[in-house]
Amino acid sequence: MDFGLSPKADELRSRMAAFMAEYVLPAEDVYDRQLAEAADPHELPSVMRELKEKARAEGLWNLFLAHGTWGAGLTNLEYAPLAELAGRSIIGPEVFNCSAPDTGNMELLALFGTPGQQDRWLRPLLAAEIRSCFAMTEPEVASSDARNIRTRITRDGDEYVVDGHKWYTSGILDPDCRLIVLMGVTDADAPAYRRQSMLLIPRDTPGITVLRDLPMFGYTDRCGHGDVLFENVRVPVSSMLGGEGDGFALAQGRLGPGRMHYAMRAVGFAERALELMCRRTLTRTAFGGPLAERGVVREWIARSRIEIEQLRLLVLKSAWLMDTRGNAAARTEVAAIKVAALEVAHRVVDRAVQAHGAAGVSDDTVLARLYAITRALRIADGPDEVHLRTVARRELAKYQEESA
Ligand SMILES: Cc1cc2nc3c(=O)[nH]c(=O)nc-3n(C[C@H](O)[C@H](O)[C@H](O)COP(=O)(O)OP(=O)(O)OC[C@H]3O[C@@H](n4cnc5c(N)ncnc54)[C@H](O)[C@@H]3O)c2cc1C
Repeated sequence: MDFGLSPKADELRSRMAAFMAEYVLPAEDVYDRQLAEAADPHELPSVMRELKEKARAEGLWNLFLAHGTWGAGLTNLEYAPLAELAGRSIIGPEVFNCSAPDTGNMELLALFGTPGQQDRWLRPLLAAEIRSCFAMTEPEVASSDARNIRTRITRDGDEYVVDGHKWYTSGILDPDCRLIVLMGVTDADAPAYRRQSMLLIPRDTPGITVLRDLPMFGYTDRCGHGDVLFENVRVPVSSMLGGEGDGFALAQGRLGPGRMHYAMRAVGFAERALELMCRRTLTRTAFGGPLAERGVVREWIARSRIEIEQLRLLVLKSAWLMDTRGNAAARTEVAAIKVAALEVAHRVVDRAVQAHGAAGVSDDTVLARLYAITRALRIADGPDEVHLRTVARRELAKYQEESA
């Protein structure tokens, strides 16, 4: 295994680190203030538009997209340290046009879109002229088992008609959201993994109602998490991504690299929290000395460093496997890092919250927000238990044959 960075990735990494330090981290407070003052909590703060323009001009743009024609063509191993850097700020990924759910949708369109679909949707997404969302989860069924999904996609002449109820559709409240990628059932009688299909639905199609904006631990996210009703929503048959029944296969294509990206960004969350914990405990004095001199605090710091290093190595191994042997060969590792990354990030953030005392739960630092995000991400994109199931199944398979 060689985790060395190519000269191209190394150069991008140093430019991105400088960009984060000079522009993104200092803009966090401005972003929060502009959002707090905005009439609509989903409005894009002007500072974000400015940052995006700068990042694009400097070529720090769409780096997540491995597809050579459309993206930067970096390998997973090359992209890993860049995603980690962006993850050091909550606003970082969007600055570089590398944020979910657009990244997954762009990957889908680059891999499986027709030229017409790519012209209409992929080009403006790559230019950040529009944003998109992904509607799979439904409130009425256990959606961690996507076979349960009920939303119907029915063919009617030259159109598909969509009826169903989705929720936690992240990004749908962003005023720039123009595209909904929806997963629904086209043939309820087909084999379990051939029942579903994916449709590209323009956001302004009649029949789509956002019932409410769902919070995340009480936070309103700028891009919103919609509770969305689809009633007699009609789109031309050319709106299908892939063919009827391809939904599951496409979802796998979308989620594999996406989980890597979450894990890479989570390393960045953890690094940020550890840095804040160190700075705070070095300067805060209690019972006659800096908090950083207490054994328990030193243990939090040391354990955090050890866990982050272990996690980073696992992420790099998964990236290397995906690059050299393909996504399927890295299935166990990708499932493992989805669990490990958010567990480690959440634990490190939790220690940093504790080390900050009351300030840790206030909104004076990014920690409370990171606490909520790292906790929620243990459910989003498949809960931990579903990934643990994958890891356990593959581990047991090694011994099942010999014990049969
Ligand atoms: C912040 C956030 C953003 C999200 N964004 C999106 C989005 O943009 N688009 C979208 O479609 N969805 C989105 N989701 C939804 C997310 O993907 C689902 O919540 C997730 O897949 C779980 O589905 P569920 O909520 O229906 O939980 P359920 O399926 O009801 O499961 C509940 C719990 O049961 C347990 N469980 C499930 N299966 C097993 C098992 N095999 N063994 C043991 N325990 C198990 C897990 O602990 C799980 O958390 C988002 C969620 C959050 C929190």
